[in-house]
Amino acid sequence: MLFTELGLRAELLRAIGEQGYDTPTPIQQKAIPAVMTGRDLMATAQTGTGKTAGFTLPILHRLASGPNTRTSRRPRVLVLVPTRELAIQVEESVRTYGKHLSINSLAVFGGVGINPQIASLRRGVDILVATPGRLLDHVQQRTVDLGGIEILVLDEADRMLDMGFIRDIRRIIALLPKQRQNLMFSATFSPDIRELAGGLLHQPVSIDVAPRNTPAELVTQRVIETNREQKKDLLLHLFETRGWHQVLIFARTKHGADALSRHLEKAGIKSAALHGNKSQGARTRTLSEFKDGKLVALVATDIAARGIDIDSLPYVINYEIPNIAEDYVHRIGRTGRAGIEGEALSLVSHDERAFMRDIEKLIKLDLERLVIPGFEPSAHAAPRPVQPPRAPRRPQMQGKTPNRISPPKTGGPQLHRSGGRHR
Ligand code: AMP
Repeated sequence: MLFTELGLRAELLRAIGEQGYDTPTPIQQKAIPAVMTGRDLMATAQTGTGKTAGFTLPILHRLASGPNTRTSRRPRVLVLVPTRELAIQVEESVRTYGKHLSINSLAVFGGVGINPQIASLRRGVDILVATPGRLLDHVQQRTVDLGGIEILVLDEADRMLDMGFIRDIRRIIALLPKQRQNLMFSATFSPDIRELAGGLLHQPVSIDVAPRNTPAELVTQRVIETNREQKKDLLLHLFETRGWHQVLIFARTKHGADALSRHLEKAGIKSAALHGNKSQGARTRTLSEFKDGKLVALVATDIAARGIDIDSLPYVINYEIPNIAEDYVHRIGRTGRAGIEGEALSLVSHDERAFMRDIEKLIKLDLERLVIPGFEPSAHAAPRPVQPPRAPRRPQMQGKTPNRISPPKTGGPQLHRSGGRHR
């Protein structure tokens, strides 16, 4: 199927062509016609599936094709997203695909001055992309009027619930006109999501798509057991021996991310940290430097990394193991996309073994353990020696054939993955 077969306006087809796309992804094939006809939608899809264009294109089509109400200053479409980064990305998509239409869009999010946003809102916005907290600030200051919303999108709804936005979301929904189209996107279909969808959506079209990745596009997941105090040097050793050029590294805390990034910089590895304490400007700049290949390593916390969309990111390193197992699935979902094979390595110290086991339970796989000579976990704390004490030092990793799995589809435990030993 081609984009030209979907009945989208010529201005949109032109913008799509300029992006170099001709074939809609599976979610786009299903979502675009459904949204164009005005139906509500519940889509289970992760970042990487093309979901953003899946809702942006038909929304732009509807706005441009309906009776022109652009004289009104009120937004007609509201897209709620969990993070600033995602707000920026979604609004960029709206601008990219809407560039041949005269439709105004704006992203509003916290952590930056509110006055420029107020000025933009005053000039008139058709499509408003917002994080819930900052949107409610605007509501409170009466700098936005949500009474003209025709279409509501909840993007990464599961993330918004995880981040505790449910009350904000309900407050926002209460301000919208009853008569409207509702689109909901979520990586998982948890009971909470089901409940939210039940109260929000009217006879929705349901879409459940696998990520854009085919089984040929795989993420190799492995665990390296070591000691906590050796992790920094082990990481440098891996950089040296494996010639990494673009690595996303996850740390658990902002402080830890900063410290690790400094350590890498000292060793001559171009690195930056990405977390919530950085100003919005710094975060945006860091992300684009990483995307452009100016940084070799990006050390991120889970929240800061949410929604980061980097095509062909080859390596994800879990420098520290998340204590929420679902975060692991989101972390490794950053690689193995867009046809490029990915590798996810988790550096696990003794105190993290229980977290790692929870993760393996969730993903229903026993991941292969590796030990890097010179960085073995110390015997006293190790319940089972994995390497003879006097093994010769070898520069490369040792281990069996790695588990190869398809990247996660929904982040839930129900997925079948090939290659690993299923529990
Ligand atoms: P998303 O799932 O919306 O985060 O999109 C993931 C990536 O896929 C983005 O970089 C998009 O630019 C890209 N993309 C979206 N639609 C298509 C398409 N039909 N063909 C190729 N790439 C696409």
